[in-house]
Parts: sequence; structure tokens; C-alpha cells
Amino acid sequence: MSERFFPDGMPQPLADQIHLPWWEAAAEHRLVVQRCTECGRTRIPPAPLCASCGSHDSDWQEVSGRGEVFTYTTVHRPIAADQEVPFVIAVIALEDSGGLRMISNLVDVAPEDVEIGMPVEVVWEDMSEDLAVPRFRPASP
Ligand SMILES: [Zn+2]
Repeated sequence: MSERFFPDGMPQPLADQIHLPWWEAAAEHRLVVQRCTECGRTRIPPAPLCASCGSHDSDWQEVSGRGEVFTYTTVHRPIAADQEVPFVIAVIALEDSGGLRMISNLVDVAPEDVEIGMPVEVVWEDMSEDLAVPRFRPASP
């Protein structure tokens, strides 16, 4: 199991038919984005059709998990029992993803040290045997 950043009582994601491949990749610690096989546009979160061309055909593109903080907020109220506060929710601009941004948590950094533009990298948190959640931490040089 990985290092833990959040308690077991955190709300768990629900994986439907559209999102399940994304969560299956995450369980293997692979960060993927959905890619339209018609026009090549990427998207996250997964969706049943391409917003650009309307195609239902897509595949999955693995990305590096590196990026930078686009914006963030510091949360001072827990949302689960035993959760430590404050914690940081950030929008991460993912490199090599076709310009996508995803929402996650920043870990291994004090909220007062977070800066917009800060380079970050994914770190996986195994919440259970088959559920891994991507968080981000300051990138190693
Ligand atoms: Zn498309």
C-alpha cells in the first residue's frame, strides 16, 4: 500500500461504465486521459462523446503525471472524520495531455508554500486494494 494522505472516511468515487477504465488505470498507478480517435482531442473527466467532433470513439492516452498548479484553494473544514486540516484542492495543468486540467489535492506541501505555476507530479494514494486516487506533490527536480 502507498503512503496515505486522507482517512478511509473520505467520500469514494463511483465508477460507471464511462469512468471505469479511468479508475482501472488508476488502480495500476497509470494516469490516463481519454482521447477522441476521430479528431485527437483529449478530455478529462471521461465522457461518452467528443465535445469537439461528436464522435463516440475514443481510447486512453497515458500521461506523465507531471504538470503545474493552475489555481488552488485551501480548505479549513474537514469533509471526513479524522481528516487533518487545512488541506489544499488544486487545479493541475497536466503536461503532455493536450492542455487538460484536472482537480486533485496537493500533498507533501504546506498550504502557505503552494504557488500558482508550481511544478507538481502525481503521487498515488491506495485507498483500498482496487482504488487508487491521484494526488499531486511538488515535483522532484
Ligand atoms: Zn473528436
